[in-house]
Formats: sequence, C-alpha cells, structure tokens
Amino acid sequence: MSTCTTVLKLPATAPGVQRTLTIHHYGQPGARPKAYFQAALHADEIPGLLVAQHLLHGLERAQHEGRIIGEVVVVPVANPIGLSQHLNGRLLGRFDFESTGNFNRDFPNLTATVLEQVRGRLTLDPTANVALIRTALRGVLAASNAVRESTVLKRTLLSLAMDADFVFDLHCDGEALLHLYAAQEQRDEATALGAELGAAAILLEEEPGGSPFDQACAGPWRHWRDALAGEGPVPLACFATTVELRGQADVNDGCAALDAAALLRFLQRRGVLAGDPGPLPEPACEATPLDGVDVLTAPAAGVLVYRKALGDRVSAGEAVADLVSLLGEPIGASRTPLRTVTDGLLLTRAIERLVRPGQKFCKIAGQEPLSYRQAGQLLED
Ligand SMILES: [Zn+2]
Repeated sequence: MSTCTTVLKLPATAPGVQRTLTIHHYGQPGARPKAYFQAALHADEIPGLLVAQHLLHGLERAQHEGRIIGEVVVVPVANPIGLSQHLNGRLLGRFDFESTGNFNRDFPNLTATVLEQVRGRLTLDPTANVALIRTALRGVLAASNAVRESTVLKRTLLSLAMDADFVFDLHCDGEALLHLYAAQEQRDEATALGAELGAAAILLEEEPGGSPFDQACAGPWRHWRDALAGEGPVPLACFATTVELRGQADVNDGCAALDAAALLRFLQRRGVLAGDPGPLPEPACEATPLDGVDVLTAPAAGVLVYRKALGDRVSAGEAVADLVSLLGEPIGASRTPLRTVTDGLLLTRAIERLVRPGQKFCKIAGQEPLSYRQAGQLLED
C-alpha cells in the first residue's frame, strides 16, 4: 500500500506570507470505500487536532499491518488561515478576519451544475451512476475559479472530500458532551457512529441552511437521487457528519485515543480497513431532530450563572441559568431566570460567563421539533 503526504500552497496573501495545507493519503488512490477526515475547520477547536494525531498513528499501524482496503485522506489541520488569526493574544478561528464570514459556511453548492452534466447519461447500474456523478463533480470543482485564500481553502477541502463515501468533520463546542450532526435520511449510519463514539446526542436535519461542509458533501446526493429518479438509481453515496468532540478545553490523550480508536473501528465495520472491530456498543442515545434543539439566547447583558450542568435532564419551563444584571438594581430584580422551552438534555454551554444581548449560550436537545426553529436556519452564526 502506498502512503503519501501532499503539501498544497494556498495563495500568498502578502509578499512573504504563504500558508500551506498538509494532506495525508493512505491506501491506493481510487480504492473504495474512501474515508475523509479533517480537523479544526473553525481553527480554535483544538480537540480534533489531537484526535487527528491519534488517527494518523492508527492509520500508520494499519498500513504497516497491511489492513488498508479502501482509501483514507486526513487533513490534520484544516484551517491554517484561522490558526494564524490572533487578536490581543487570543486565537480566534471561527470567522475569517478577511471578512468572508464563518469558515464553516458557504461551501460551494455544485448540485445544479453537476445535474446538467449527467442528465441523460445514467444507466440502471447505481455503482456506475455514482462513478459518473463523482467524475462530473471533480470536473466542475476543478473548473471553478477561486482567488481569495479562504475561498481556495474551502474549494480544496471540498475537492478532497466530495467523492468520499464517509466524511468526518471534527469540531468542538464551547463546553459540551460529544455529539454529532448528520442528515435525517442517514439516521442509521449516524446512530452506528454515535454508538461507536458513545455520543450523548445525534442531531439530524433535513436542511440546516448556511451550506456547512458536511452538508456540501452529503446534501447534493439527495437532490440528484430525486431529480434523476426517472433516469436511473442514485444512492446517497456520501455519509458526512460533523463530530463535536466535546468542549474547547477537553483536550487530553485519554479521550483523543478513545475517539480515534472509535473512528477507526467505524472504518473497519464499513470495510475501509480490515480487522475485527468487535461488537458494536449499545447506543448511548437516540437520534433527535436538530429543530428540536432549544438554543437559549441572552435577553440582555449580564453575568450568566448556570443552575444546570452538562448532561442534566431538564424540563420545559425549567430555569437553566440566571442572568445577573450588574448596575445596582434592587436585590431580587437583578436576577432573571432563563428557561428552556423543551424537555431534553443539556448538551452545550458557552464558555463565556459575561454575555451580551442576543448571545446564544446553551443548547438543549429535545425530542420534539420546536416551532421557532426554522429549516434552513438551524445553525448559529
Ligand atoms: Zn466548529
């Protein structure tokens, strides 16, 4: 088996400033199934950077033992632009300082262009149809024009991942339990991965909006399947998931080694790697709808004092935190209880304890869709 490491240059943003993207390849190019991993697209989300190192060690071992059947691509540092953004001594990686916005939004949508190219060319063989669409995808993305550094980065990441069978985008939240985002129609795959990782929540959506990376990889297949239904079978050929590897401070070798081992066992179960993964653990949770996540928002500025801890079960109407105003209001009037509208699991909390009006600070995963949560606007800024 061959392994190679590629270093791609991003456009130089100033004379003497040249960032690069390092990509590790395992297995024969074109071998199937293909898995793709990237870490820290939001740059200042460090747990994935460490998990990627453990993954690389596991893949090196698998390669040494001749156990790589398919192809595995790992981008251990997905956002060198964000990783170089410091302000007043702090790393800030979620938004591009160049004003192109959130690094995990606005990935190109190639659905319509690819559809035009493959229409009338499908057969009754789903495998051949998938290969035809992937070839068209590669061509469309290669022909697209990108100049800005962050746009080139996004197109490069997508070009590495878009023809994969499995895509893992490794993120984290502020303070959080391990959880996944995936498409509603890929519930079984998401549930199996969640069981492997011991995920506390699996959040499923039909249309999150914002074109994040996982959606840009997996979402088009649903459209192609439906739009081409009269011409030939098109399966959902890409399972893509955002894996939230707990909170920003949850960086330790114990968790990272276990997470990487779980991801590698998933690859074994799906035939990317050879070897016995053992029995699949019992799921720690049932999948719930992303539009059932109550996202609590601070109504005013103040200090946030949590009443509930991560992992607590809460009930609709229950106060999760108090917002304490600070300018000398009478005692009693200075505290506002902030309540959830759903029964569910307290899944994430913001790290900040001083909040501003409109700041989202906590997520509670409930079973029932919430009326204020709108398809197409399910992600935060
Ligand atoms: Zn993130």
